[in-house]
Amino acid sequence: MSNLTSLSLTEMQSALAKGETSSVELTQATLDSIANLDPKLHTFLHVAGKQALHQARQADEERAQKVNKPLLGLPIAIKDVLTVENMPCTCGSKILEGFMPPFTGTAVRRLQEAGAIIIGKTNTDEFAMGSSTENSAYGRTNNPWDVRRVPGGSSGGSAAAVAARLVPAALGTDTGGSVRQPAAFCGVTGLKTTYGRVSRYGLVAFGSSLDTVGAFGRNAKDAAAIFSAMSGHDALDATSAPVAVPEIKFDPRDLRGLRIGVPKEYFIKGIQPEVEEKTRAAIDQLKALGAEIREVSLPHTEYALPVYYIIAPAEASANLARYDGVRYGPRVDANALWDVYFKTRGQKFGAEVERRIMIGTYALSAGYYDAYYGQAQKVRTLLTRDFELAFKDVDMLACPTTPSTAFVAGAHENDPLAMYLEDVFTLPANLAGVPGISFPVGFDNNHLPIGMQLIAPHFREDLLLSAVHVYQQSSDWHTKTPNI
Ligand code: GLN
Repeated sequence: MSNLTSLSLTEMQSALAKGETSSVELTQATLDSIANLDPKLHTFLHVAGKQALHQARQADEERAQKVNKPLLGLPIAIKDVLTVENMPCTCGSKILEGFMPPFTGTAVRRLQEAGAIIIGKTNTDEFAMGSSTENSAYGRTNNPWDVRRVPGGSSGGSAAAVAARLVPAALGTDTGGSVRQPAAFCGVTGLKTTYGRVSRYGLVAFGSSLDTVGAFGRNAKDAAAIFSAMSGHDALDATSAPVAVPEIKFDPRDLRGLRIGVPKEYFIKGIQPEVEEKTRAAIDQLKALGAEIREVSLPHTEYALPVYYIIAPAEASANLARYDGVRYGPRVDANALWDVYFKTRGQKFGAEVERRIMIGTYALSAGYYDAYYGQAQKVRTLLTRDFELAFKDVDMLACPTTPSTAFVAGAHENDPLAMYLEDVFTLPANLAGVPGISFPVGFDNNHLPIGMQLIAPHFREDLLLSAVHVYQQSSDWHTKTPNI
């Protein structure tokens, strides 16, 4: 078969089922496209070619024996903040350069058990802090639609690899928008799961009360296949929810009976006109498909950004205390133990990580705790209540994913606050713990993809995935391919 990598995950699955290709062939085609295109894009930090081909041969043997596994033989990439045995895990940081984790995290292990072939580890902002991959200590990823632009972040490597047809699907993580924002910038479908839905065991912690594992695919069906395989309770993560994972139904042909709320606070001044225009057009399309559209209000939305930038750095400052040059990764030697800590951390952490550690340590310090962290937690409750109230009247919310399309690399270089504003529409879902999905709804005048977001109540990923599937049956934005 020609051009194997242009197939979506579900198309690969049926090509395998019909005997038109093999897992070895798919895996080799994937490795070939990475070898051809990744020098231009830099989506991967580590490609595990030999291991992947070995797994693919095993998958073909299992297929010959009619073993039935949902992802058997399909190549998938993993953001480099999730541990995979026998593959380095750097988190985009020099402080973990060469670190080999001794175990595979639950989400990846479940994909492997479902038969997936793990191709390698994708680029990320250092410890998932950022919105462009420019904070990766190993250099940024380029957006496949325009290589002078960023792919978004922090899961920019995964999003760009799926957009460029290097892999059909990939895992990302979303603490404040890191699956949805790069999905929007790269023109792919990205699902942020409910907090607690997917185990965080083996996910290197950033903001522990916000971190979620998510999936990238070319369409909702592909994202759903990954979601179903990796979700569900895990005794190894105390915050994992003992909630059953529903089967996702893709049979509805329309959206009749679905009530969609459009929060007025998400259409703010300063948003790129084409983003608003295409989002509204897609909302009209959802209406034409039978959904009932209502305006709703989430009155505390404006506090999401300041609340997030207290809570996430506070949790990060505690989580990153473990990188001391003794337990993980490289060490900068010195005579006194304190100097080992100072020098290793001082030399190996990047500027954004140091900034977050300082903000977080300050916010948590005695005397300031109540004024910052305590207060932020209270406002977080108000933001959560906004969603709870809205979901009494509607089944899901529709809004833009990002205020603008992909920006040119370096545009926010000297302005961390401008970078923080990238996530203004995605952060509230993390603070409330609810799921969200970004999917392509058009292009701007520079032919850059535009994504829009749907947000649902806790554990209703099924609603999001089936609604996006219905939309994608009647649109072709998700099928557009960048010309690299
Ligand atoms: N851009 C946000 C941050 O830098 C969110 C990152 C994420 O979701 N991992 O914190």
